[in-house]
Amino acid sequence: MIEFPYPISFDGRVGVLASMHQKETVMAPILLTEVGLQLQVASLNTDQFGTFTREIDRPGTQLEAARLKAKAAIDLTGHSLALASEGTFSPHPLLPYLACNRELVILIDAEHGLELVGETVSTQTNFRHQLVFDLNTALEFAQKAGFPDHGLVVMSDADRIQSETIVKGIHQEAELIEIVKRTLEQFGQAWLETDMRAMHNPTRMQVIGDATRDLVRKLKQRCPQCRYPGFDVVERQGGLPCEWCGSPTDLTLQAIYGCQYCGFQRSLLYPDGKTAADPAQCALCNP
Ligand SMILES: [Zn+2]
Ligand SMILES: [Zn+2]
Repeated sequence: MIEFPYPISFDGRVGVLASMHQKETVMAPILLTEVGLQLQVASLNTDQFGTFTREIDRPGTQLEAARLKAKAAIDLTGHSLALASEGTFSPHPLLPYLACNRELVILIDAEHGLELVGETVSTQTNFRHQLVFDLNTALEFAQKAGFPDHGLVVMSDADRIQSETIVKGIHQEAELIEIVKRTLEQFGQAWLETDMRAMHNPTRMQVIGDATRDLVRKLKQRCPQCRYPGFDVVERQGGLPCEWCGSPTDLTLQAIYGCQYCGFQRSLLYPDGKTAADPAQCALCNP
């Protein structure tokens, strides 16, 4: 067996978090308990990497934006270990009337050349927006959006994001009523949306926690050959046989686990715990 300079330990190390939105409240306890990593917040203006209210577009993909934030935290603080998270909200691919929140949490360990990404996709989100013409409709919207625990954003219309009339992080009913009334008087309408910044959105904060737990799971999965962290599925291969006729289906027959560092791979049969496919998934039995 080849000798490698690993395992890497995270115990007692400081990881800097690029966040202005108090994500450390959910992430820090998980990282400390599970791998001993101590999270510190880097005072970095993360709005330069995009805002939910669209004043600033996100650079590149969701993953690229998270990576940029983590690298900026390393550059700013001089620490070798950094974390960042990035969320998106979009219609569910199969059920378009449902909103979907995808959260990524990235860890970059510059000292060991390691990059790992935890991910969660959840339909648990209050993400919504609405144009209203009266106060009652605005209050109904607020109720559906989980207000006042969840913050709201009010502006004159969806395209006027640069406008000085935009108010974010609203959590008080009196404040909401006053701002909606003022906007209605001035513009005859008001555009309401849920504030998706983590500290204004406890539901999103929970999903960031789930993505952090996914990251920790990957950190703990060590390569059997060199002990490098993040030994995880790199490929899923179809071909699970149909329960009736035995012909191969598109469902996963085996998963290939791979090591980022030494390239060692191991395949695992029936990773989803099923040895045969439901005939409904078979092109011959259910054409
Ligand atoms: Zn079949
Ligand atoms: Zn390895």
